[in-house]
Amino acid sequence: MPNKRILVLGGTSDANVLAKELLKAGFDAVTSFAGVTENPVLPEGEIRVGGFGGEDGLYDYLKAEGYAAVADATHPFAAQISRHGFNAAERAGIPYLRLERAAWTPLPADNWISVQNTEAAVAVLPNASRIMLTIGRKEISAFLTRDDLSGVARMIEKPAIELPSNWVLVLARPPFSVEAERELLAFQKITHLVTKNAGGKLTVAKLMAARAQRIPVVMIERPQKPSAPAFGSASALVAALA
Ligand code: NAP
Repeated sequence: MPNKRILVLGGTSDANVLAKELLKAGFDAVTSFAGVTENPVLPEGEIRVGGFGGEDGLYDYLKAEGYAAVADATHPFAAQISRHGFNAAERAGIPYLRLERAAWTPLPADNWISVQNTEAAVAVLPNASRIMLTIGRKEISAFLTRDDLSGVARMIEKPAIELPSNWVLVLARPPFSVEAERELLAFQKITHLVTKNAGGKLTVAKLMAARAQRIPVVMIERPQKPSAPAFGSASALVAALA
């Protein structure tokens, strides 16, 4: 591939690994951030920040900057940008490849209640549940509509809304240890863990702690992403591009 300019759709630790691997392999990687996180961990190489202005904006950007491919390393739950990336790359006549970490799957000792979205997660929780909520900061308000729910809401940066007094806000960046997760679940008398099926090792300790303490997990399953070549590791994606 003579043109080595690759747009990495980022905002994840996986994207930072991918940018590093691309640079190492001689590609010219530009990592794009939505600009929603105040202090993101930055990758090596060039970065750009902010939305593109929908699919059309992304298409114009790809053409104007002369990219050779789009490498989508966004979070498994960032469905819109993946759809835009897939469609815009197709229109621009360049490859779209996705870096996709495997979803978590339950072990026999687990008690998972799988649901399709946040609203279903809220609906499935028994009355007066005390929950540990680890779904990021954008979608927590749906849980606060139920007065009987309380617990811990953990996220990396402060939410836009104030939490009611029966909720504890924990601001922390992964990874977390199983021991620390067990202590948190026990100390806060958590009855249910609510999480997105993000996959990966960085945040898996909470599932191990819930398993050990026999705490049910409300697992929000992944949205559909475009059907396109997907790779389980940065090195596999880079090899395919090369
Ligand atoms: P989304 O719903 O799929 O995208 C919403 C809009 O944000 C897109 O249409 C696009 O705006 C802009 N955008 C998203 N990712 C972008 C990127 N990498 N570069 C430039 N613009 C981007 O995404 P989201 O769920 O809000 O996630 C936003 C960012 O946070 C993503 O980068 C994602 O990887 C990261 N993230 C998300 C989650 C999660 O649970 N959703 C968790 C961890 C990290 P325009 O239409 O204007 O182009």
